Amino acid sequence: MNRRDFLTTASVTSAALALNGCNESNRQAIDYSKHPQAKNSEKKRINFNKNKKTVIKLATSWPAHFPIMGVGVERFAKRIHDISAGSLEIKIYPKNVLVPALAVFDACSSGQIDAFHSGPYYWKGKNSAFSLYSGIPFGFTAEEINSWMLFGGGLDLWREQYAKYNLHPFMGGNTNIQMGGWFRKPINSLEDMKGLKMRIPGLGGEVFAKMGVNPILLPAGEIYTSLERGVIDATEWVGPALDIKMGFYKVAPYYYSGWHEPGSILELTFNKNTWSHLSHEQQAMIEVASSEMNSNMTYEFHAENIYALQKLEDLNVQIMQYPKEVIEAGKKSLQDVIKELSEKNQDFTKVYTSIEKHLKLSKKWSDTSLRYFLNER
Ligand code: CA
Repeated sequence: MNRRDFLTTASVTSAALALNGCNESNRQAIDYSKHPQAKNSEKKRINFNKNKKTVIKLATSWPAHFPIMGVGVERFAKRIHDISAGSLEIKIYPKNVLVPALAVFDACSSGQIDAFHSGPYYWKGKNSAFSLYSGIPFGFTAEEINSWMLFGGGLDLWREQYAKYNLHPFMGGNTNIQMGGWFRKPINSLEDMKGLKMRIPGLGGEVFAKMGVNPILLPAGEIYTSLERGVIDATEWVGPALDIKMGFYKVAPYYYSGWHEPGSILELTFNKNTWSHLSHEQQAMIEVASSEMNSNMTYEFHAENIYALQKLEDLNVQIMQYPKEVIEAGKKSLQDVIKELSEKNQDFTKVYTSIEKHLKLSKKWSDTSLRYFLNER
């Protein structure tokens, strides 16, 4: 094909595509100009002086060098140092160094710190809608929630709602699908869930509460001893990679596959004043490096999980699945929780409506492609 033929074919094809688009009235086109990076690139360029050093104080909800999450933030800071030629420094304060683990939201909102790394569902007490940015039980996988955030309007909603707290969030990693938790005794029926004392936060905890479980919140350092002494009967944490380090398998040998946190988002959030005073170039560096952190952390969880699962099997941990009646009760409880929270909070309704729309289509595509493939593999 010569160049002229190619151009003609290409024009006909694009004309046909355009026409096709016009005819498909119910098709929701993806507007790429709405992508967060496209928005930022429209901003007026501000001269960036790389000889002038800017320091960002970033607090995390994790201990220093905490596997995957803590280490991932440290890599992000190093990356920013390198691409800014040392002119933009992210100074990391692990939990309790400057502010307690769960005080980072308020500290950043007030300007005590410039940024934080944590998880949006920890702030559901401020606004129940925030828990939805972490994900929902039976909801998005990591890949699906990323697509909702970037191309389905999720990040826009998140930023609109965080702006009321003077905050500007980014995705800062994803735990990938989490395990259902560690149990001292096997769960053979819905009846076995009743009265169970379990450490489980977020929307998952609310769903489990509707199923008769008594959800308990405990600091990370107290979970193991509580489980060992029978103060709690079960705990969820994250997945094999982090769970194995907590040693839960020694005191609760039944390890269940999960559905309560199928793709939990971690956040990298900035104080809005700090963010708006950064130059266009500094903002672009953070956008690039945070996007890298988001994908690296997601894939590192996957990589660490596959090796840790093998180790757990070698330790004779029993990998279990909830009975069907527990799963069905979980789905029903989720609908009750969503109904109650929607009635109480318009923000929740707004975010959930957006999620529902994207999730419905996403499920169809994932069932058609990924589920088919995984079943056949
Ligand atoms: Ca968890």
